[in-house]
Amino acid sequence: MNNIEHIGIAVKDLETSNALFAKLFGKPHYKEESVESEGVNTSFFKVGSNKIELLEASKSDSPIAKFIEKKGEGIHHIAYDVDDIEAELKRLKTEGFIILNETPKKGADNKLVAFLHPKSTNGVLIELCQEIR
Ligand code: ZN
Repeated sequence: MNNIEHIGIAVKDLETSNALFAKLFGKPHYKEESVESEGVNTSFFKVGSNKIELLEASKSDSPIAKFIEKKGEGIHHIAYDVDDIEAELKRLKTEGFIILNETPKKGADNKLVAFLHPKSTNGVLIELCQEIR
């Protein structure tokens, strides 16, 4: 695993939170993207070398809607950059981690992504992401 690629924050309303985080960071988000398969609308901020992803549910049965219902707004996941997502998933599975999607899927920002169940990682949802080359 490499650097933290981004931190995902679940928000109720993307437009409101885009304005809030723009005020916080002193600059606006640089892109928005919807991932239909995940039921999310996302926006991205760059802060120094860090990236923040805001996630809003685009439908009521989206995982983000369920997360907010249960826990409220807040940090949703930490994403790590990996060189070879298939190899990394294989390694983590061998180590006993619970993989949520064994076949990586296309996420926002031109990435192949896969998630580890928070049950197997002390309550933290971990995303692996590999740039699609
Ligand atoms: Zn993410």
